[in-house]
Amino acid sequence: LRMVSATPMGTDQVSDEELRPSGLDEFIGQPRLKAQMKLFLNAAMKRGVPPDHILLAGPPGLGKTTLAMIVANELDSPIRITSGPAIQHAGDLASILSSLEEGEVLFIDEIHRLPRAAEELLYIAMEDFRVDVVVGKGPGASSIPLTLPRFTVVGATTREGMLPSPLRARFGFTAHLDFYPKDEMRKLILRSAGVLGVSIDEDAADQLARRSRGTPRIANRLLRRVRDWAVVHDLDHVDATAVQEALDLYQIDVEGLDRLDIAVLRAICGSFNGGPVGLNNLAAMVGEESETVETVCEPYLVREGFLVRTPKGRVATSRAWEHLGITPPDDVNV
Ligand code: ADP
Repeated sequence: LRMVSATPMGTDQVSDEELRPSGLDEFIGQPRLKAQMKLFLNAAMKRGVPPDHILLAGPPGLGKTTLAMIVANELDSPIRITSGPAIQHAGDLASILSSLEEGEVLFIDEIHRLPRAAEELLYIAMEDFRVDVVVGKGPGASSIPLTLPRFTVVGATTREGMLPSPLRARFGFTAHLDFYPKDEMRKLILRSAGVLGVSIDEDAADQLARRSRGTPRIANRLLRRVRDWAVVHDLDHVDATAVQEALDLYQIDVEGLDRLDIAVLRAICGSFNGGPVGLNNLAAMVGEESETVETVCEPYLVREGFLVRTPKGRVATSRAWEHLGITPPDDVNV
């Protein structure tokens, strides 16, 4: 596997690397998605052609990058990594495309943030495997059509709805990743503990699973903090008490809610009397972009039954009031 990265790796991403499963069989959970992916990749390999383009949609930290790398691994193909925001001009994308090899996987993270001109260039390249390279400037400029080898785009997005339909239509396979249920989180934590050489019991894994917000990236991060705790306290085994004490120290919510989740619930209950409140008002109240509230925060709160979306706006549920430890005023129906 050869990787060329177009973006510098953040520290979180660097530490993601050692825990990344390299094959589909090691990828925890998401059984249906794995079965579909396996069929799709096997068919392409049997036919001896690169597979259709793949779109991976879902909140951050659920395994989109991991799956892109697994696709390349399973196909035994090189992978090129870039992202929507890293491509500022269509020309940046044209030069990546024109240097691809036959069968190469092109991973485009945050594909919904590609500039419009790059988007157009991309869907022509995805459909017809050609790109027009512009040479020269001004009136003397000309464009040279270039035929590309067959390649596979793996696009990742936290906002599938923002992809223009012509681009969305170019993907032969779309996978939606959802938060992992507790038992899959427990398995994931036990696997990561094995890789990191941390001895942990089932109860402790359970505690961690409960507090990881259904998100592998968070589980792995919390596991590292628990490992720190064990090292400092000379424990050679992590039990539920150690997990509890370590995570309490880091103020990790017992339900796995993070700072933003709590701020959103507090805003709805405290400032908007339980709702309904519109997304933009809510985002302004917690000082975040609407996009972040909508794509990072809400899906989990809705899934866990802390918040409901109604035509009039977001409404806090009784579970939210309880979790905040506030009694709802009499005029609030929960
Ligand atoms: P995304 O690209 O969706 O933000 P990543 O693929 O970077 O998420 O995953 C974040 C971290 O969680 C990585 O360390 C990855 O190895 C781990 N991870 C994600 N999904 C799984 C899974 N299903 N099984 C095992 N580890 C996973």
